[in-house]
Amino acid sequence: MVIFKEIGPLKAFLADKTSQGLSIGLVPTMGALHHGHLELVMASKKANSITVCSIFVNPTQFNNPSDLEKYPRTAQRDITNLDSVGCDVLFHPEKEVMYQKPSTIKFDFGKLDKVFEGEFRPGHFSGVALVVSKLFNIVNPDKAYFGQKDFQQFKIISRLVEELQFNIELICFPTLREPDGLAMSSRNLRLNVEERKSALFFYRALQFAKTELLKGTDLKSVQTKVREMCSLEPRVRLEYFELADTENLNLLESVKQPTPSILLVAGFVGEIRLIDNMFVEN
Ligand code: AMP
Repeated sequence: MVIFKEIGPLKAFLADKTSQGLSIGLVPTMGALHHGHLELVMASKKANSITVCSIFVNPTQFNNPSDLEKYPRTAQRDITNLDSVGCDVLFHPEKEVMYQKPSTIKFDFGKLDKVFEGEFRPGHFSGVALVVSKLFNIVNPDKAYFGQKDFQQFKIISRLVEELQFNIELICFPTLREPDGLAMSSRNLRLNVEERKSALFFYRALQFAKTELLKGTDLKSVQTKVREMCSLEPRVRLEYFELADTENLNLLESVKQPTPSILLVAGFVGEIRLIDNMFVEN
């Protein structure tokens, strides 16, 4: 694997590959890689000649300074893992390379970035859109890979690609889970043993709600029951548990046909904020 820390040499390397007719897949990450990330890399490897993984803990998407400071950084292990799945290129820039001066650009995605994560993490999606735009400009990929775990992020990036007319195909990859169901996340590294057990609440709640909704139970009763389940977990503080239309993320009161609906959940386990989601299809 070739590692780049600067933009110029990476662009020159990739321009050479493109001129040879080779296709490029991009997997943007913030590092502390787990199997979910590596699956994205493997999916890219299957479909593209060259796979670029970027690792950059993007400061502009953190609304909480302590979350940014404590975000896990495991560079050496990440390099070994990326090598083990045959990643071709790692782009691992310092903050000063990505932001030569403080950025003034702000993105506004209308309703899409005001709900769910947007409501609880103001400015988050503007920072995401900014760094992803930069990465798209630098790497100029044919395809870019994102996880369903961050479903709202995927919708925002889809809108970004559409409105800015990036000629990039986006792939939304299913969420990889631990054997007990917990969605893999870099932040799971920060959970202690007790918190790790409590974190399973999110998956259990999603599964419970999906089963109930498909049986015809109304959303309000399901949400009440989920809050009751949560009150039995002293370490968990729920922020939202909602049903939305996968097309536009509008809130739903019942499962909609024919496009799938999605249950979205976020909350804290101790100090660690986690999110998860699940499609609900009839
Ligand atoms: P992050 O490093 O957390 O910003 O994630 C980088 C990419 O990996 C994003 O597109 C995430 O949605 C995706 N991702 C994170 N966790 C998972 C997972 N458990 N399964 C699949 N993809 C994931």
